[in-house]
Amino acid sequence: MRHVAERERKLELVERALARLSPLESACTFCPRDCRVDRTKGADGVCRTGRLASVSHALLHFGEEPVISGKSGSGTIFFTGCNLKCLFCQNYQLSWLLEGEPVSDEELAALMLGLQAKGAHNINFVSPTHVVLPILRALRIALSEGLAIPLVWNSNGYDGLEVIRALEGIVDIYLPDLKYHSPAISKKYSAAGDYFARASEAVREMALQQPALDLGPGGTARKGLVIRHLILPGAVEDTLVILKWIRKNISPFIGLSLMSQYHPCFRAPDEIQRGVSKEEYRRAADKALELGFDRLFLQPEPFRPDEHLVPDFRKDKPFRWK
Ligand code: SF4
Repeated sequence: MRHVAERERKLELVERALARLSPLESACTFCPRDCRVDRTKGADGVCRTGRLASVSHALLHFGEEPVISGKSGSGTIFFTGCNLKCLFCQNYQLSWLLEGEPVSDEELAALMLGLQAKGAHNINFVSPTHVVLPILRALRIALSEGLAIPLVWNSNGYDGLEVIRALEGIVDIYLPDLKYHSPAISKKYSAAGDYFARASEAVREMALQQPALDLGPGGTARKGLVIRHLILPGAVEDTLVILKWIRKNISPFIGLSLMSQYHPCFRAPDEIQRGVSKEEYRRAADKALELGFDRLFLQPEPFRPDEHLVPDFRKDKPFRWK
């Protein structure tokens, strides 16, 4: 009964979010790029996405943080296109090269229900910002047909505030990046000098909605916020500023995931054509420990670039963990 009431509550909120966000589709402002293009007529914005979502893979993911992947895996849907397009993106086949297939709202809903049927702990939308409307339209169908597991918003952090506000009560777990503090660095690597200004306001809103990580009996998240930060080679000072900002401005009960997995991909400039050094990672990890984050997820020290974490989406199984 609890599940039914929860689905009905979410369905109502989905309808409300669609009413609020649908008018923005014809002059798109779903993210801070503010392209104002008509998404119903073409794919002319920075994300190069029209009305429908395009999907590369929908699979059980065992490589996310333990509270997300759990034992049975996170039901992960990888969308193509992206509003940020980092030069070093390890998912460049999707974000830059748009390698995926358009899906109808019904097909997207079927992917969610299929992942739930396979035992997924949650539905994990990867790079969802630019496809918020197809996701909401598909949720309308999937919730009506029994989707009951938590929903994860796995974004690059460069989300429109209006979008995040509309998702209140729908998204159970926010999993955003907070990539850069320095406008010079974010401009250079992601062509977004306002990244921190905009991502920090989105993350604050996420923290208002989901201030504490709530774990179920098996240790997987039911609700909450986990902020991810990928340390970049040569930019550890920027990392330290971000860690201090999170500690000062966001609830101490969120999760923090400090990632060492950077590997130069796609068009990574010369100065970041290497992995993060052991010393850089230790400085960042020591600072995070010193700041006393309640739930801190650390990756192994990067003694050498870990090729195993770079997916190849041209394969049926892009990851090598299973
Ligand atoms: S979602 Fe896409 S079209 Fe809309 S503002 Fe962002 S990048 Fe531009």
